[in-house]
Amino acid sequence: MGEFELIRRFFDRAAPPAPGVALGIGDDCALLLPQPGQQLAVSTDMLVEGRHFLATVDPAALGHKALAVNLSDLAAMGAEPLGFTLALALPQADEAWLAGFAQGLFALSDAAGCPLVGGDTTRGPLNLCLTVMGQVPPGQALRRAAARAGDDIWVSGTLGDARLALEVFRGGATLDGAAFNRVRARMERPTPRLALGLALRGVAHAAADISDGLAGDLGHILNASGVGATLWAEALLHTTSTDLRGQGDSLALAYALTGGDDYELVFTAPVAQREAVAQAAARTGVAVTRVGQIEATPGLRVLDTQGRPMALQGRAFDHFA
Ligand code: ADP
Ligand code: MG
Repeated sequence: MGEFELIRRFFDRAAPPAPGVALGIGDDCALLLPQPGQQLAVSTDMLVEGRHFLATVDPAALGHKALAVNLSDLAAMGAEPLGFTLALALPQADEAWLAGFAQGLFALSDAAGCPLVGGDTTRGPLNLCLTVMGQVPPGQALRRAAARAGDDIWVSGTLGDARLALEVFRGGATLDGAAFNRVRARMERPTPRLALGLALRGVAHAAADISDGLAGDLGHILNASGVGATLWAEALLHTTSTDLRGQGDSLALAYALTGGDDYELVFTAPVAQREAVAQAAARTGVAVTRVGQIEATPGLRVLDTQGRPMALQGRAFDHFA
């Protein structure tokens, strides 16, 4: 199977027509059609074998996750997906692997209304690089620099389960089969919060997706906005699953703060928008939890369940630290 045969068989589907795509795979460029006046939101994420995933991972789960982590960036910006490209390095053309990968990739692509519009395919160590494109009306993107002192800090969904799954894989924690399957799904098949991100336009101030841990990703918002924050341990524990809390409160709190791979949203919103945030959450079927407050004093503080300051152990995941 040659390169073009591979592209044709696994990636160039007769995809349903998408409103944002004038021309998809097959020419020198794809042609996209953002709605007039909208800004183009662009984000790239690379996944490298041995670094972001293990060689043994189910290829369908990998196809899902590669797109999910990219869509999560659009969600965090309040952008609506238009399409994505896929640059793929493969050690060999393994048909079973490619079929699984494409199945996971396109299931999410279809569900999110984000078609594959082009890419590049080459031989090499397994490496995936996706670029997503979306649209957002001018002035409505949820920027990291937009947090204001007095804002509430909110988190979507649950935090820390992906980190727990990793710990079980490493042999550092044990779970029963059902619990392991739940946390493993959180690690391998994260859900990008696209609908919530759109619903937060005009409601939230700043937002980011939680890929490297809440402390680190909220830290980016704090730095960009020139503000600080206090988080409440009690509220953070409410963002953790019963599977994670079964490992003890202190581990649950640590994983919620610094675990990473959650792909939930952290966002800030004025106190006056509490009802609007609750409505956005209800409308999109995603739970949100208020976990702290933005303050003028720089730095990130965490208060324990008795309201005393806690020492923050460890920071976010950093590839070069
Ligand atoms: P070029 O000569 O411009 O590099 P290619 O011959 O690599 O183009 O690709 C031919 C067409 O197939 C292009 O439209 C390209 O976008 C698309 N393509 C290549 N690889 C992929 C892939 N992995 N997924 C989707 N589209 C792809
Ligand atoms: Mg090429």
